[in-house]
Amino acid sequence: IGGDPELLLAALDPEQRAVATALHGPVAVIAGAGTGKTRAITHRIAYGVAVGAYSPTAVLAVTFTTRAAGEMRGRLQQLGARGVQARTFHSAALRQAQYFWPKAYGGELPSVLDNRMSLVAEAAGRLRVRVDTARLRDLLGEISWAKVSNTTPEDYARVAAPLDRTVSGIDPETVARIFTGYEELKRQRGRIDFEDILLCTAALLAEHDDIRDQVQRTYRHLVVDEYQDVSPLQHRLLELWRGNRSELCVVGDPAQTIHSFAGARADFLTGFARRHPNATVVRLVRDYRSTPQVVGAANAVMRAGRGPTAGGGIDAVELQAQRPPGPEPLLQESQNEADEAAEIADWLAGLAARGVDYREMAVLFRINAQSPVMEQALAERNIPYLVRGGERFYERAEVRQALHALRTQARAITELDGDRPADAVAEVQATLGALGWTEQPPSGAGAVRERWESLAALVAVAEDLAAASAEPIGLPVVVEELERRAQAQHVPSAQGVTVSTLHSAKGLEWDAVALFGIQEGSLPFVLATRPDEVAEERRLLYVGLTRAREHLHVSWSRTRGGGQATRKPSRFLDPLLPAHYRGGAAPSAAGDQRQRRKGTVLAAHCRTCGHALHDAAERKLGRHADCPATYDERTLTLLKEWRKQTSAEEKVPAFCVFTD
Ligand code: ATP
Ligand code: MG
Repeated sequence: IGGDPELLLAALDPEQRAVATALHGPVAVIAGAGTGKTRAITHRIAYGVAVGAYSPTAVLAVTFTTRAAGEMRGRLQQLGARGVQARTFHSAALRQAQYFWPKAYGGELPSVLDNRMSLVAEAAGRLRVRVDTARLRDLLGEISWAKVSNTTPEDYARVAAPLDRTVSGIDPETVARIFTGYEELKRQRGRIDFEDILLCTAALLAEHDDIRDQVQRTYRHLVVDEYQDVSPLQHRLLELWRGNRSELCVVGDPAQTIHSFAGARADFLTGFARRHPNATVVRLVRDYRSTPQVVGAANAVMRAGRGPTAGGGIDAVELQAQRPPGPEPLLQESQNEADEAAEIADWLAGLAARGVDYREMAVLFRINAQSPVMEQALAERNIPYLVRGGERFYERAEVRQALHALRTQARAITELDGDRPADAVAEVQATLGALGWTEQPPSGAGAVRERWESLAALVAVAEDLAAASAEPIGLPVVVEELERRAQAQHVPSAQGVTVSTLHSAKGLEWDAVALFGIQEGSLPFVLATRPDEVAEERRLLYVGLTRAREHLHVSWSRTRGGGQATRKPSRFLDPLLPAHYRGGAAPSAAGDQRQRRKGTVLAAHCRTCGHALHDAAERKLGRHADCPATYDERTLTLLKEWRKQTSAEEKVPAFCVFTD
């Protein structure tokens, strides 16, 4: 449909079409997950280009993750809108700052700090404040929050005190002094940090009318995805890009605000129409992504969060499922995390056996520390997987180190060994081998694995280039291509199951999604105690549930190691769990008690043929009655027994129960 305006519009529903054809003036789309917001804005850009209203290079589309930006660029190309800039806030700002810095202040833009933690530690040390890693992380998070909230070290104590912000028990005055010390150390070393990229760009544009004019003339049409998570600092930058023009289109979902700990404010989205009285405001409610079963679960979780005690004051609009029915979501309890991870890995392997591509699967969790257990289970089964969603790939230390080594090596070979036959792949492998790359993935999880993956992704680029070229290619060709991709933030494509935090998964979708470790203490996270914080954790679950197109698996474990069962499923799962499950409630029937003693496992597909299970008896058994696999006598008797027992249970919860 690339480039054909009629076809571009034909791929949209009437409300989405209203977005795509509102080519001028302020536009806001406020809509739930999977309703086609991102689709509507990509089509809008392509449509604007197709009808000649936009020059592709005059459009700047911003989103939140490198991966989302990459996907948007890919989509735009397919739709015939080549040359449109689709970037994260940071990458767009960094480019501008690097380009204009010499003109504005002379010299290069200072380079970005590698290890901010050590500077915070130094600043704290000078004040004799004792810090451990957890405290340092807290302090760093707080400093980031202050910076994106436009709060200076001088203002910090005054702003933070009434907000009841807790930083490992350190009082606001001391935090402010550490913040001041950190900024000073950074200046002395001639470095900037991640937030400074935006702060410096905003300052540069604010202070230099000529540069601001030039930027505003270059980018005439601004589009922002995931606008509900915009911080005051990003908002300020956006205002500088926009100037007094009205060519701004924003889309977002207040129910997916998940960055308020980092200063994000959904009221920029909800207040858009107030700030822009002539805005076109469109609401979308049809969910095109997920099956009715997945949509039902997401709606139920958000519905239960409504009301005066909900906190945050954000009520999700019910999504209306458009897709045909699919399998019931699977809810599962395990004895410990290792078992839970194993169950998920088996589930994924089962789906793969039924033809679902591993690249169309994801395992999502609340915090990075949950990743290694999951990785281990995948690695043991030889399931290919990719940690992290490709966030800031080119900023990873190992990638920068690798690029540096490859550059140096490329120079050495051309200068010294000009007539050696070109074999880029072998050169890349040898160079990265010295940095720890190996043919086979390491058995270790976590940081070791992440490092290997980054290097393996670079090797894969060389292999792809060599395979695509008719003649042997040399290392310089690979280096040049990598430099080009780094400039464009083009992340090497992911192979295998995505293993990621819930935060990094927003905006994305997979056929199958497993949410891992959905128990109290993890979600809501143990540090989320205020009602608004708990409400944000609920939204995080909503984001997770709505990533699934078809297959959904939600699980938790009762113990950490295997001792006393101390953990409970997340309170947000209440509306999804069978009534008898709720911990502590008096069991209503003997059957319930029996199940409880044995430990309840909840499932929805036939364990043998994978077919969705429809009645309570089937679900209890975990087998499909007409399963092509033959049952032994005992299984059939059990099935009949359960049929009798459960015939009265007309209404079985959508999420089935069977005894293992
Ligand atoms: P999120 O809030 O999670 O970012 P979103 O509102 O941006 O979701 P999209 O990612 O744009 O939703 O769309 C969700 C899925 O539905 C995509 O696979 C998209 O291609 C599909 N889709 C959207 N609109 C339509 C439509 N009118 N017809 C068919 N498919 C659609
Ligand atoms: Mg989206």
